[in-house]
Amino acid sequence: MDVRPFWLAGRAETSGDSFEVTHPYDGSAIAAVAVPTPEQVEEAVRAAHGVRHEARALPVHVRAEALAHVSRRLGERADEIARLITNENGKPLMWARAEVARAVSTFRWAAEETRRYGGETQRLDTDPAGAGRLAYVARRPYGAVLAITPFNFPLNLVAHKVAPAIAVGAPVVVKPAPATPLSALLLGEILAETGLPEGMFSVLPVPNDRAAALVADERLPVVSFTGSGPVGYSIMDSVPRKHVTLELGGNAAAVVLGDADLDWAATRVATFSNYQAGQSCIAVQRVLVTEDVYDEFAARLVPAVESLVVGDPWDEKTQVGPLISEDAAIRVETWVNEAMAGGARVLTGGTREGGSFAPTVLADVPADAKAWREEIFGPVLALQRVADVDEAFAQVNDSAYGLQAGVFTRSLDVAFRAHRELEVGGVIIGDVPSYRADQMPYGGVKESGVGREGLRSAMDDYTYPRTMVLTGL
Ligand code: NAD
Repeated sequence: MDVRPFWLAGRAETSGDSFEVTHPYDGSAIAAVAVPTPEQVEEAVRAAHGVRHEARALPVHVRAEALAHVSRRLGERADEIARLITNENGKPLMWARAEVARAVSTFRWAAEETRRYGGETQRLDTDPAGAGRLAYVARRPYGAVLAITPFNFPLNLVAHKVAPAIAVGAPVVVKPAPATPLSALLLGEILAETGLPEGMFSVLPVPNDRAAALVADERLPVVSFTGSGPVGYSIMDSVPRKHVTLELGGNAAAVVLGDADLDWAATRVATFSNYQAGQSCIAVQRVLVTEDVYDEFAARLVPAVESLVVGDPWDEKTQVGPLISEDAAIRVETWVNEAMAGGARVLTGGTREGGSFAPTVLADVPADAKAWREEIFGPVLALQRVADVDEAFAQVNDSAYGLQAGVFTRSLDVAFRAHRELEVGGVIIGDVPSYRADQMPYGGVKESGVGREGLRSAMDDYTYPRTMVLTGL
């Protein structure tokens, strides 16, 4: 089997060591990936640190052109890249295609945003002491960014970190998830075509036990992490002086109220509790339905879930594929069994076959069950009857997490109330919590993280405002 090279300061490199990547659907080996040696990692970090001044001085049109090039090339190679994502992650082709389309848009948006990211001036003669003075404020990058990414969107979540880094003129070192490094390596191939300075990017598939050295390295002052809470917070605790952003997990809720369009709500909840086999931080996990429409909603939801096409991710019609591994599916099964032992009823699904878990609707899940309290990260939703909007919102907030929430209502009053009261990073009115776009800040509160992504927000997180005061004007 060919060994795929990694990207060291913009060039393809190999080493004597490699690991295998397998296809989650049938466990077959699909590629071997070279592992950088400690010396090669040191060279990549030295190069990223060394190029930081040149990187921040890159003309905006050069950064914008590089980002636009990446967007174009991702678009031209969309089919091949979608197949690569399906191969390493196991998600159905339809979702892999959606992921590539999203990355195309992320880089295009970054190319535009870098052109808009100017400074501002403030008059200081608002007070006598400021007479004849003017402040000019522009943001400057802290330095190189370490981007650590999870398995569930192997291209997109890398794009969400690499694009803003290039946009602000910051070098970036990517450490992809060990299960799904191939999309990040392919992105490296496209980045290498841009002619960006040497050291501007590296993609280093190092094993987890060697990632701590990257996290601790002072030459990488920004750590942008997407992944699970325990790993994220241990990283943050280990480097309290670094600029760390954490995009973590959640157990996102959708609220369905009496005035909602129940057909629409049922279809959306069915689709977005099961997309990526539920392995999305904003997949619908908890559904709170007011009792006036609970039975009607459940009667629509269960057939909508049962109509999802489950199975072979290579079939263009498949909507729900396998989980990332059989271990992951076994964990989901354990959590469902625990909920059932506590009194939960299975309305549909509940079964496992190897690494695949059937789309599942549970009702009456006890509030202390993991399937309710924790992030299940599988195709399972918990349906809960509530008396009214007060109880629904209280239940949304009764969670350790706070990423996004969806509220199906047609009432503007309720929409603004949701925005006032729900303790989450984003409230989606009239839809599931699973919506995200590059122009909006995206991230969580509580155990769901610190900092925000979305192009502009990530660019702010990678930079600090530097002020210049002009005197004698
Ligand atoms: P994970 O935490 O196991 O791994 C994430 C990354 O951290 C991987 O690259 C992994 O190799 C690396 N890592 C693991 N141990 C490390 C260590 N000690 N030091 C440095 N790096 C280390 O997460 P996962 O299982 O790959 O992804 C699933 C999680 O990601 C879920 O909790 C999900 O909710 C979360 N997620 C969050 C968002 C978001 O934007 N909020 C998006 C997608 C996924």
